[in-house]
Amino acid sequence: MTRCITCQKPVNRNKAHMTIELKGDLYLTCCPMCQSVFEKNPEKYIHQSGRKHSKR
Ligand SMILES: [Zn+2]
Repeated sequence: MTRCITCQKPVNRNKAHMTIELKGDLYLTCCPMCQSVFEKNPEKYIHQSGRKHSKR
């Protein structure tokens, strides 16, 4: 299950408001509101998803 990048609600990929592909990862937004929130501050949400921890 993929989650909305801003509100963290589970979102079916086929029903997502929008899908955003960044650096090989797929991000979904569930509604126009989440979309605008994400666009205001995309880096904040991209870093939150951090599957890759580059810290040592
Ligand atoms: Zn959302």
